[in-house]
Amino acid sequence: QSARRYERIREQETHEFMKRIGEHANKAFLPLLEKGELRGIIIGGPGPTKEEFVDGDYLHHELRKKVIGVVDISYHGEYGLRELVEKASDILRDHEAVKERHLIQNFFRHLVKDTGMITYGEKEVRKALELGAVDTLLISEGYDKVRVRAKCNNCGWQEEKTMSEQEFHVYKKKLTHCPKCGSQNINFEKWDVAEEFIKMAEESGSDVEIISLDTDEGQQFYKAFGGLGAFLRYKIQ
Ligand SMILES: [Zn+2]
Repeated sequence: QSARRYERIREQETHEFMKRIGEHANKAFLPLLEKGELRGIIIGGPGPTKEEFVDGDYLHHELRKKVIGVVDISYHGEYGLRELVEKASDILRDHEAVKERHLIQNFFRHLVKDTGMITYGEKEVRKALELGAVDTLLISEGYDKVRVRAKCNNCGWQEEKTMSEQEFHVYKKKLTHCPKCGSQNINFEKWDVAEEFIKMAEESGSDVEIISLDTDEGQQFYKAFGGLGAFLRYKIQ
């Protein structure tokens, strides 16, 4: 009888503990969810308690939908957290791949339906960014073009172009004289287009998604669309 009583007390304590964890988690994660900053929750712990926690009514139901993995870990405290992150890396990778696939499929859907709510290509995306019309900027991790500004120090002539690093070497070699005044005093500036676009997106409060080359969709996005695209806040033109 005392064994049963002991068990009941333990169950009660476990329940109280999970209730407390749930309350803490709700307080910490619900504001993030509301801001759209919560991508997923991974729960770890030793033994079957974590499953009870997930299946029970401890987490807010909106947060429960965000649980993307439950992982067995053996340590507690900070070591346990570290172990969790390590063991969750596969889950995180898969989760990112699924998300990425959906994102690109959605992009293609807009394209096929010609909704006018997406754009692609360096020139078009740049224009959309300048207008502040970008909702979500998509950049392939394979994208590596640079932006070049050539300027004549004598007459002030200048031009800006986007090209590959290799094309830049050819361009620089060819442009020995200013096309306007013939001066050889030409100054070249060069910067990374992806970095420039990410900065522009951040300044106008747009989301940025880096698209990997790990999925078929990611490959397609890079090969068929040059690796630059955007979902728009409104139609341009
Ligand atoms: Zn000149």
